[in-house]
Amino acid sequence: MNISNRSWAEPYKIKMVEPLKMTTRAERQAAIAEAGYNTFLLKSEDVYIDLLTDSGCGAMSDRQWAGMMAGDEAYAGSANYYHMRDTVEEYYSYKHTVPTHQGRGAENILSQILISQGDYVPGNMYFTTTRLHQELAGATFVDIIIDEAHDPASMHPFKGNVDLAKLDALVADVGVEKIPYVCVATCVNMAGGQPISMANLRALRSWCDKHKVRLVHDMTRVAENAYFIQSREEGYGDKSIREIVYELCSLTDAATMSSKKDALVNIGGFLAMNDAELYEKACNLVVVYEGLHTYGGMAGRDMEALAVGITESVKDDHIRARVGQVEYLGEKLKAMGVPIVNPIGGHAIFLDARAILPNIPQDHFPAQALSAALYVDAGVRSMERGVISAGRNKDTGENFMPKLELVRLTLPRRVYTQAHMDVVAESVCQVMIRADEISGLKFAYEPEYLRFFRARFAPIER
Ligand SMILES: *Cc1c(COP(=O)(O)O)cnc(C)c1O
Repeated sequence: MNISNRSWAEPYKIKMVEPLKMTTRAERQAAIAEAGYNTFLLKSEDVYIDLLTDSGCGAMSDRQWAGMMAGDEAYAGSANYYHMRDTVEEYYSYKHTVPTHQGRGAENILSQILISQGDYVPGNMYFTTTRLHQELAGATFVDIIIDEAHDPASMHPFKGNVDLAKLDALVADVGVEKIPYVCVATCVNMAGGQPISMANLRALRSWCDKHKVRLVHDMTRVAENAYFIQSREEGYGDKSIREIVYELCSLTDAATMSSKKDALVNIGGFLAMNDAELYEKACNLVVVYEGLHTYGGMAGRDMEALAVGITESVKDDHIRARVGQVEYLGEKLKAMGVPIVNPIGGHAIFLDARAILPNIPQDHFPAQALSAALYVDAGVRSMERGVISAGRNKDTGENFMPKLELVRLTLPRRVYTQAHMDVVAESVCQVMIRADEISGLKFAYEPEYLRFFRARFAPIER
């Protein structure tokens, strides 16, 4: 027996279970038609393995649940707020914290404070809610991620990196005074959960210092980014995830956080910063949109669970198992010949819908169609990340046609087992074998904002 390549297993055991409903293919066909071929509109109870998102659907630990019982639900000055604020400073370096109901609450406040009509906000690829808040505040988003990020076959180890030449070109084009801040995301969601290197972030920091432009951090997946730095970047192999996370945050001026991702809670977020003046402005606005500056839309118990979640999220064994499960699923799919975005990212596997459905043109929404077909096969829920998510150009009304037309299989943290991953991989493979039975889709209803959430579709007759 050869045991040189030893298995790893999750660094936790299961204390409580949530039984899942098993459905038939006919039931799933009816359910997806009822949902307008949009997996966001399926009922959760009709889903077997839910890989729609890693947002707010992770499993909390017994310590976090114990923290829920210690909720101080005072309207003002909750003890849990101070605990959360101190934890943010201790682990993430930012001095001031404004809680928000989730990440987009923080994005709204920050965009309103910093952006003026006609500004440009550069970022390492867009995120749906982030870009929308920038646009609603009057700015135009400019993508400054390296070109490799748009190529699903490129094996670049840090596809989240910023191309400083693109920033220089933007300055030459519009002038530095039109750029209120640079928005840098760690482990870029829309690029496939791809990390930025510490060296690149440091260079970006210098660029921002030189041009006197603020650097804002979308730190939703900062711990996963730290894991890739630890495993890929020279000089970081011996540093702990906690140290790397702290260093990443210290290189930036302010941050928006959706704590529903890395920080292991079901709801919540915050806006954090070092600048006292910015903090004062954020406190003024948070009372308008979220709640008092010491709760900002969160219950005391949720702030407590978040404080504990932050400490768990930067543990090396946790993050290794978290990203390890994503790698396990990705490697299994690759071995079966399924085309996915490379290298495998930190929170999800992205199927290349163009390669799987070469006969469906992009304006017939191949990723949306693939996601619906995947649900019908075995009850696995995924989401579209392609032309539907990209939306329309706010000036011309034309569909953005992103190079990446993907289906995202996103793993919630600490929820599913390796056996679930095997079921998912086999289902994807089965759908791919029968790809020529899948029809393209057309809109039956298109909402004005963030259309991917609530759009409805109908199959295109063949
Ligand atoms: C989820 C997410 C957001 C928005 O956060 P919500 O909590 O969903 O409002 C912002 N940026 C990134 C990268 C995200 O993944």
